[in-house]
Amino acid sequence: MLINKIGEFALIEYFKKRIKVDSSVIKGIGDDCAVIRFKKDRYILFSSDMLVEGVDFQSNTPAYLIGRKSLGVVLSDIASCGGIPKYALLSLGFSPRLDFNFIKELLRGFLDLARKFKVNLVGGDLSRAENLTIDVSILGEVEKRFLVLREGAKKGDVIFVSGPLGGSIKKKHLRFIPRIKEARFLVKNFKINSMIDISDGLVQDLSHILKENNLSAVIYEDLIPLSAEAKGINSALYDGEDFELLFPVPLKEAKNLSKLKKFFPIGELTKGRNEIVLIKKNGKEVLLKVRGFRHF
Ligand code: ADP
Ligand code: MG
Repeated sequence: MLINKIGEFALIEYFKKRIKVDSSVIKGIGDDCAVIRFKKDRYILFSSDMLVEGVDFQSNTPAYLIGRKSLGVVLSDIASCGGIPKYALLSLGFSPRLDFNFIKELLRGFLDLARKFKVNLVGGDLSRAENLTIDVSILGEVEKRFLVLREGAKKGDVIFVSGPLGGSIKKKHLRFIPRIKEARFLVKNFKINSMIDISDGLVQDLSHILKENNLSAVIYEDLIPLSAEAKGINSALYDGEDFELLFPVPLKEAKNLSKLKKFFPIGELTKGRNEIVLIKKNGKEVLLKVRGFRHF
């Protein structure tokens, strides 16, 4: 059977079913980072992401921005779990005919972002490849009391996002700032029940939270913040790669969080079977189809 017929999420399920982990693994496949036992008060966070030419960037994308994005995407996963990034590995596959300047620029982009977030590049690998491929692994840590996962959301929680959504393909997907600072601020000062980064689109990533918690959601068109680049509400609902945080918060906390005017409440979690209802500006209710970016 072709992989296309199975689909990305079913494929991940297939991996998950066949993998046994020992008791040092607190959370394996199925969240933004793996969570591993470490110290008395801390966990290790572990994640990787791969960027491929023609899929995650184009052949004319500046090398500096490719390098930057390759680290940015894994930092975003560490942010989703409320953690601090520490050590990275950078693996590159490229053609022997690639100009050395390209690699220099790619590394410069990677290291500029690494410096900003105090990440140590400690190793990696090089291989010959047809299409430029970049794989970054990241190790981070999080205090046990600050860990947030996709699970943990409750009925009645208010759903927040950390910034405007949609149209990221025009610019933001290569230049976004991973929300590490915001995530740390949130976990230190508020009770954040659950969190995910919006990499595959608001609706699809919200649906991961719903599935993980057996809930449904109601979101309001007039509350969803649109990026300047967004082409209307559909773009904010379904475009990927905004790398903003999506997090449900208990109602009491939500009131305090709203006062800061830094984060945007967009709706609430309800009882139900993983359905997302959009209340349009004209008051009409629409049941949204779960779709977004998928590799297969
Ligand atoms: P994200 O978009 O947050 O990077 P993904 O959608 O890529 O997450 O992956 C979802 C989950 O599946 C993660 O927990 C990831 O570690 C796991 N996963 C993806 N590919 C594989 C694989 N080849 N082997 C094992 N686990 C995988
Ligand atoms: Mg993620």
